[in-house]
Amino acid sequence: TNYVAKADRYEQMKYRRCGKSGLLLPMISLGLWHNFGHTDDFNNGRQLLRTAFDFGITHFDLANNYGPPYGAAEDNFGRIFQKDFVPYRDELIISTKAGWDMWPGPYGNYGSRKYLIASLDQSLKRMGLDYVDIFYHHRPDPETPLEETMGALHHIVQQGKALYVGISQYNAEDTARAQEILQDLGTPLLIHQPRYNMFDRWVENGLLDVLRQKGVGAIAFSPLEQGILTNKYLKGLPEDSRAVKDARYLNADHITPEVLDKVAKLNAIASSREQSLAQMALAWVLRDETITTVLVGVSKKQQLLDNIEALKNTKFSSDELKQIGQILG
Ligand code: NDP
Repeated sequence: TNYVAKADRYEQMKYRRCGKSGLLLPMISLGLWHNFGHTDDFNNGRQLLRTAFDFGITHFDLANNYGPPYGAAEDNFGRIFQKDFVPYRDELIISTKAGWDMWPGPYGNYGSRKYLIASLDQSLKRMGLDYVDIFYHHRPDPETPLEETMGALHHIVQQGKALYVGISQYNAEDTARAQEILQDLGTPLLIHQPRYNMFDRWVENGLLDVLRQKGVGAIAFSPLEQGILTNKYLKGLPEDSRAVKDARYLNADHITPEVLDKVAKLNAIASSREQSLAQMALAWVLRDETITTVLVGVSKKQQLLDNIEALKNTKFSSDELKQIGQILG
């Protein structure tokens, strides 16, 4: 059936400016790392993307190797885009990345100009797009000069293959250098994509200060710690959960009694705020305006609807923040 986006979609979402750029991003963005591979249900993925856009989620995040197999998420996204989203291309911010393992040999990984430019060309073909809105270097490369990697990002923008560029997983110091190199070339660094959630607060030790000072936006990935920061594991391991059905990155060993004890305590605070734990976990990441958006994954439509409701209450009292801080230790 033909998809027509809900007319009231922009009343359902709030947007934040991405650093000091001209770009607004929805406070909740959708990532395609999981649930969009060739082993996943195509129609479910299609429904997730439709639901997201119907609620004003204008930003979809991909990478060259999301799947499985590598490339499959871009492939499936491209098919869904052709069916449903062609009329809405100018309402969407689509991102992809290169930086992790993608193809055999010395040119399919890390941060050379050779890899980044070839990989983006492949990504555009898989997605059936002329350009992406944001192209990222997916992780720092300890051996390639940062000037070469940033030069490749700048070149990609000049070629019109990406409108903006970002970096992911870079530490504070390398982020500051990357920003300066790009600025000198004349291409601003739009955004940084770090992992940030209640259980992983590394960005608070310097990175957020750099982003604030330099006017760079931030999109926090795995804000729910892959699902641990929800109520789903409190009563055991559900058969349809990531830890059980797809143990590539999250498995039962991560869900220890210590972790569950903290989750139960956080869940009680969330209840007192009349939120689900997932909602509170997202609101908590968004409490600092340096964070432009939280980048969630979802396996079910209902999870997305639950997460969107987080925006109804993103304020924390100092007492709540203190209690949460004590639980996190
Ligand atoms: P999350 O921390 O949001 O975890 C998503 C998982 O949590 C879902 O698949 C689902 O798991 C569960 N979940 C989500 N919402 C709810 C809810 N309301 N109630 C119960 N369970 C829920 O994020 P991801 O780890 O999936 O990462 C999100 C995105 O971040 C990725 O898609 C990718 O775009 C990006 N990313 C970037 C990286 C980088 O290096 N730059 C690395 C990793 C991710 P279940 O399957 O159990 O239902």
